[in-house]
Amino acid sequence: MSSICERFDTLGADGRPTRLGIMGGTFDPIHIGHLACAEQAREAFSLDAVIFIPAGNPVFKKDRAVTPAAHRLAMCQLAVASNPAFDVSAVEIERGGDTYTVDTLRQIRTHYPENVELYFITGADAVYHILTWHESAAIADLARLIAVTRPGYTLSEERRAFIADQGRFSIDYLEVTALAISSSDLRARVAQAKSIRYLTMQRVLDYIREQGLYIDSEGGAQ
Ligand code: ATP
Ligand code: MG
Repeated sequence: MSSICERFDTLGADGRPTRLGIMGGTFDPIHIGHLACAEQAREAFSLDAVIFIPAGNPVFKKDRAVTPAAHRLAMCQLAVASNPAFDVSAVEIERGGDTYTVDTLRQIRTHYPENVELYFITGADAVYHILTWHESAAIADLARLIAVTRPGYTLSEERRAFIADQGRFSIDYLEVTALAISSSDLRARVAQAKSIRYLTMQRVLDYIREQGLYIDSEGGAQ
């Protein structure tokens, strides 16, 4: 059987109801906003595990050069190592080609037994675009959605109602501790030789420094 990630490949094998969170993103680089978001979703929805899935070739980020996948994957691994409920999967990176959430969810759905319920965790900013996603209706059959609100990206009641009307999505909204932090901001700070200490895990910080990442980056605000 194919592997999804190291820690949780046998999740649900005992037949008990199990909840698996999936956190997709570019993670260029991963920061405490992502980690706090996953942790609070884990707690709020009693998730047994959360798998971070760095995108291979993000379809929505073609306007700027994304850092090579191997670096983004390594940073995610460093960031989650200390949390036994977290792991990282390279499935999207290994699949290559354009990254579609629906393909990833299908792959994960196929791997796990039926007693494992999937929860796709995503920022409210991404849910906003949900109806434009490739095969968005199929996503609804594969996973429940946890839409996390973050500063500057809150969805209006109107927009929530619109989304609920359109699809067959099961969306739960979760307000996480406000962290007005983004990968773009981290990249821009490194490029300006400013400190990003405490904005990401120390090990990630060390990695960025050792590998000389983002020095020439312009931040590429999204
Ligand atoms: P960029 O600035 O390059 O767009 P980003 O910080 O938005 O990066 P992504 O990798 O695009 O990071 O985000 C992955 C997921 O994490 C998305 O669903 C996004 O909405 C969510 N997310 C990003 N930053 C935060 C934050 N500070 N708090 C909560 N969720 C976040
Ligand atoms: Mg973003």
